[in-house]
Amino acid sequence: MLNVVIFGPPGSGKGTQSENLIKEFNLTHISTGDLLRKEITGNTELGFLAKKYIDKGALVPDDIIIGMIDNYLEKIGNVPGVIFDGFPRTVEQAKSLKEMLATYKTDVSIMVNLEVPKEELVQRLLKRGETSGRSDDNLETIEKRISVYEEQTAPVKDFYAKEGKLASIKGVGTINGIFAEISKAITAVK
Ligand code: ADP
Repeated sequence: MLNVVIFGPPGSGKGTQSENLIKEFNLTHISTGDLLRKEITGNTELGFLAKKYIDKGALVPDDIIIGMIDNYLEKIGNVPGVIFDGFPRTVEQAKSLKEMLATYKTDVSIMVNLEVPKEELVQRLLKRGETSGRSDDNLETIEKRISVYEEQTAPVKDFYAKEGKLASIKGVGTINGIFAEISKAITAVK
């Protein structure tokens, strides 16, 4: 299997690049943010619980996220590969992902880390907030999400660096130009 983790701060373009990558590399897209928002619109118990964290810009607890991924992996069955978008977001989640994938006799192939300066992130997310309808795309929550990223999520990079799987790519430029760089990195590990 080709298993890609697309990584970076909020607003770094993970979702946008994932859309192109799923087509190019025949990957199944797993976005924990999308899964959680689906739970919220479906008025499920999980959605109700998650909304409290999301609206504050905080992370949803690891056990909830890990359970959700575990179920999803079981549901999708045999696929050529997966792109994880917005997950893992803590070192604990990265360790669990390794264990879960081991039960399928596979592992993460590469972590693509998109690097974007903070000022650019805030501008992009505020712009997205004009049309996204997302309750967390407002200045206060955006700033909180970026600091949560720096404190709790950025250390996940070291986890994959130690495994020799970290590929850092500049996430500023044209969507196609960035896509070309990501594709090159993925092709090299395929
Ligand atoms: P963004 O990358 O723009 O912040 P996401 O859709 O990935 O957007 O995530 C939105 C929110 O959903 C996060 O701020 C967090 O509250 C929650 N969330 C998503 N994925 C995870 C995860 N892996 N662990 C914990 N919380 C998560």
